[in-house]
Amino acid sequence: MKTFTYTGNPARILFGSGRSADVREAVEALGCRRALVLATPHQKADAEALSDRLSALSVGVFAGAVMHTPVDVTETALKIVQDTEADCVVSLGGGSTTGLGKAIAYRTDLLQVVIPTTYAGSEVTPILGQTEGGRKTTVRNASILPELVIYDPDLTLRLPVGMSVTSGLNAMAHAVEGLYARDRNPVSTLMALDGLRAFRDSLPVLVKTPEDTDARAEALYGAWLCGTVLGTVGMALHHKICHTLGGSFDTPHAETHAVMLPHTAAFNAEAAQAELSGAAELFGGSIGGGLWDFAKSIGAPLSLKDFGLVEADLDRAADIATENPYWNPRPIDRASIRTLLQKAWEGVRPD
Ligand code: NAD
Repeated sequence: MKTFTYTGNPARILFGSGRSADVREAVEALGCRRALVLATPHQKADAEALSDRLSALSVGVFAGAVMHTPVDVTETALKIVQDTEADCVVSLGGGSTTGLGKAIAYRTDLLQVVIPTTYAGSEVTPILGQTEGGRKTTVRNASILPELVIYDPDLTLRLPVGMSVTSGLNAMAHAVEGLYARDRNPVSTLMALDGLRAFRDSLPVLVKTPEDTDARAEALYGAWLCGTVLGTVGMALHHKICHTLGGSFDTPHAETHAVMLPHTAAFNAEAAQAELSGAAELFGGSIGGGLWDFAKSIGAPLSLKDFGLVEADLDRAADIATENPYWNPRPIDRASIRTLLQKAWEGVRPD
């Protein structure tokens, strides 16, 4: 007999090709009149076009978002929020831009509209990671969860193939860990499995034809599902290791997830055999080896070596990743984590 607790995060999702054109209505529906548009410097022109589309509802653009949500950037943005008397933010971009919007909302309770252009999934989680003085900390709070998300696959047509692949694998990692989460429930499991299926079907198409609109829509649908899983249930070893590598060795976010996923899945394969069986079926029967073959077939990075990590770093990484005990389906010990890191560093196929 099943026993579970289900807690959903309130979210309003607009999904479909061309739906970013609904941004004015979205801002008005939240009861807002003064939107500050956020972006990275790289997406400034797109943010300005969005601001034009908002016309009188926009108070301007702040295109200063950067990776890992540094608190000093948030403070600069807060000053602009104050000067412009903004009553909401519209975040256009990937996890870095969404992170800035969340950091503002956490401090001001401003409402958020997010228009994601990667598959990171941050837009549907109440989680904010931010950095100060070289330290990354994570907070979870209801004010951090964006009120409205517009998924428009047209905005992802120009997401470079390499980033599409790594961002997709980043999203898939949320789903794989969601499948064996202690607080999983039948809905999170359905979402995780369909999210994995969506990426399995769409990423190989995108690698060959990046502007395939159907495949882009399927991948973005997968991103929503996998992100929702991340926002709803707890994560384990995989996210802990990626957090360690990114936080202490500055490895790139999505790429690190892409390299680690087959290895962490293989590590947990036996302990969570029943929970991972549906995912294993999607990838040819073996979850670790199957995900590695899939990642290789779509040109994903396979080795931590490629990020400038030297073998000696693995000792420190294993120390940090095991210094605080946390739940994982297979119990953690330093020696087995060191071995796992070695395999990921060498880029060999996991068993
Ligand atoms: P990103 O937001 O840093 O984007 C990387 C670069 O790609 C940026 O320059 C961006 O402007 C550009 N870009 C984004 N979309 C594009 C597009 N469609 N076309 C062309 N260029 C585009 O990358 P990311 O992987 O989406 O986000 C990573 C960050 O998100 C990390 O800091 C991570 O910790 C955070 N994150 C947080 C959560 C959460 O729930 N809190 C979840 C996932 C990721």
